[in-house]
Amino acid sequence: MSDELARAAAVLRDARAVAIACHVNPDADALGSSLGLAHHLTARGATVVVGFPNEPLEMPGWSAALPVDDLVVPVEAFPSSPAVMVTCDCAAFDRLGSLGASADAAGELIWIDHHRSNDGRGTIRLVDPDASSTCEVVARLLDEIGGDISDESAICLYAGLVTDTGRFQYEAATPETLRLAARLREHPFDHARLSQVLYENNHAAYLDVLGVAMDRAELDIAAGLVWTYVLWSDLESADAEPGDVDDLIDVLRATRDADTAAVVKQQRDGRFKVSVRSRGARDLSLVAAAFGGGGHRLAAGYTSEVGPAETIRRLRAAVTAAAPVP
Ligand code: MN
Repeated sequence: MSDELARAAAVLRDARAVAIACHVNPDADALGSSLGLAHHLTARGATVVVGFPNEPLEMPGWSAALPVDDLVVPVEAFPSSPAVMVTCDCAAFDRLGSLGASADAAGELIWIDHHRSNDGRGTIRLVDPDASSTCEVVARLLDEIGGDISDESAICLYAGLVTDTGRFQYEAATPETLRLAARLREHPFDHARLSQVLYENNHAAYLDVLGVAMDRAELDIAAGLVWTYVLWSDLESADAEPGDVDDLIDVLRATRDADTAAVVKQQRDGRFKVSVRSRGARDLSLVAAAFGGGGHRLAAGYTSEVGPAETIRRLRAAVTAAAPVP
């Protein structure tokens, strides 16, 4: 990847304007990597915009902890044919949604990602499936571009690093990851507040939804699968928001009797978002890809058009057929 890193740095060093896009419903790695790069390029004098394809534009609650400034623009203000465009954390082209047209029209398209199931777009590709996070790849890029990492970039990159590694617990948290985290943590950002905003920021209604979901949780010993589901009506009747159940999967995955944990969450549009995690025995990136999604070996996701029972029936068949991780 070092040739590509040098090429990307050369393009970005000279670019007067850069358009950065991350995936729909951005997580802290997607938005953190985009903003971390944006701040670095802005400090060098470039004009930079950041976008993601949610319409209308709605910022995730935790982004209040990040220096978003006025970098993020709605879809209609995103350049339609940028000379230089960067994508962050997109495993597949369709994760760009309506911003895909800008990517198609871009002069230079720098694709930065760390998903194993990446579909191979971009004129310059910085894709490292062994990197803990897109933020880690962006940090390498900033070093290659040159110049000090600013306080603004540091907190943005740290946010992606800490969340994508499950607070430095997962296998992808390498010595390089931890050294980078320490380096970013040298900057004077409010670490305790960032952790609170990222991890302890649910509405009280979250407890009601958690109760409902835990009550429904089922352990299928034969399949090595523990699962539950949340309906849109559960959120509505508890007056909770989708973000309140983002960490539900982390409760289920702590069950040692099942390799695989799954949470099926109904979205506003009626479809079901499926999050799956393995404790190490199964390659779930392949399972998710078979359902049109993607992700990492031990953490992946996809969207299902059918209800929770049928979604789990299909998932059960797929995970029990999945080849064990060598
Ligand atoms: Mn990521």
